[in-house]
Amino acid sequence: MPAPVPHRTSAPSSDARRSSGNPWVVELRELGRRAGSMQPFEKTLPAPEGWRVELIGVPVGAEVELRLRLESVMEGVLVSGEVDVPVVGSCARCLEPVEDTLELDVQELFAYEGSTTEETSEEDEVRLVEHDRIDLEPMIRDLVVLSLPLSPVCSDDCQGLCVDCGQRLDDLPPDHSHELLDPRWAGLAGRFASSPDGDENTEEN
Ligand SMILES: [Zn+2]
Ligand SMILES: [Zn+2]
Repeated sequence: MPAPVPHRTSAPSSDARRSSGNPWVVELRELGRRAGSMQPFEKTLPAPEGWRVELIGVPVGAEVELRLRLESVMEGVLVSGEVDVPVVGSCARCLEPVEDTLELDVQELFAYEGSTTEETSEEDEVRLVEHDRIDLEPMIRDLVVLSLPLSPVCSDDCQGLCVDCGQRLDDLPPDHSHELLDPRWAGLAGRFASSPDGDENTEEN
């Protein structure tokens, strides 16, 4: 008689689900502590909140592409590689939407607790390997926030807005101007223009 097939109540959990649940936290069990061992970390992860400055930032949930290499070194784990980060904001001059992708280089040491690097660094200056894990999120957030422009522009030669009507100058003809005359002078100007005694208006046939 064949053994009864066990009833499965749920799909098997993936590796990602079995770990801490935070996709930015990398388990280092595979890497080990033997200096020289290496592990690629190539993933696309959703951006968390808070990666932004005033006018531009990374939309929550946007796809951040990581092409990293984790390398075991004497003092800890060296993380290096590249990160592509989509950013969305508005032009500081004309307020038009701005979209871009930051391509950032990463190189950062996560020190082992008790290593010389940890002991000789200020607490807030060093990233640590904790419980055989590293959290990539604060490192990449710092890198992104430092790379975001305080005054993003839609193009380097954006002319901004017309101070009189508020329209985008780049969308207007080059001779756009407002010859707004003071209403008190407008009548006078009209009188000059149609002056019957003016030389310019004299018809010579
Ligand atoms: Zn602009
Ligand atoms: Zn105008």
